[in-house]
Amino acid sequence: MSVPTLTSAPVSRLNPAPDGVGGLAPSAPALTLKVGGVTPFSATDYPGQFTAVVFVQGCPWRCGYCHNPHLQPRTARSPVPWSDVLALLQRRVGLIDAVVFSGGEPTMDPALLDAVRAVRALGFGVGLHSAGMYPRRLAEVLPLVDWLGLDVKASWQGYDAITGISDSARQVRAGVERVLASGVAYECRTTVHPALHSEADILALAQGLQAMGVRHYALQVFRATGSRDARLTAASTLGYPGAELLARIAPMFDSFSLRQA
Ligand code: SF4
Repeated sequence: MSVPTLTSAPVSRLNPAPDGVGGLAPSAPALTLKVGGVTPFSATDYPGQFTAVVFVQGCPWRCGYCHNPHLQPRTARSPVPWSDVLALLQRRVGLIDAVVFSGGEPTMDPALLDAVRAVRALGFGVGLHSAGMYPRRLAEVLPLVDWLGLDVKASWQGYDAITGISDSARQVRAGVERVLASGVAYECRTTVHPALHSEADILALAQGLQAMGVRHYALQVFRATGSRDARLTAASTLGYPGAELLARIAPMFDSFSLRQA
């Protein structure tokens, strides 16, 4: 998951409007997405596609490794008016393939479905990053999503220690099952840190996902960017996870990758 670039020249119009009035495009949907930032171009947020990334405000969890903790609260006014986002996307037609909804947790926003429809109406494909915590809304948008990056944070019993929220895994299992049943292209991925996941934990998680029918999996080694957790940022990840573990996990999936900073 990348970090929004709100300050570069192409998006200067997308910085929060001081008066909260931004509407430049004529056809904003009735329900409007709360957008915290936009990256107009990315080659890393949807495999094989050039995209713009829309960072939706709001997430009920508090993962210490979160890259975008400023997006966790939902503010009364949307920092970036959805109408401005649509105006930007209209100018990107022909320049990018798809729009990725990221966050925060995009499925927290009741306007997500309308926003996805609006993006499809412009002719773009749709990518979605989600932690699967709102399975009903996830199921609602899945038919309009071309590719999903689904965060699985740990084995179910290890979730709360990472999210800081009790019983946080309860809805995620249903989310994973709905994704697998939908047939949508996806990648499950886990951000790993030696203080949060032992190698035995990672192996057990991979085995659990394999048993559920997950075919595409990635491990993302912790990056300090944005993290407010000093315990995590101070620790070394050198040599983690080990080659022997990776060699055991790789054959469990049709595709498997390790991402390091
Ligand atoms: S679920 Fe994602 S957006 Fe929410 S706190 Fe965790 S890393 Fe951040």
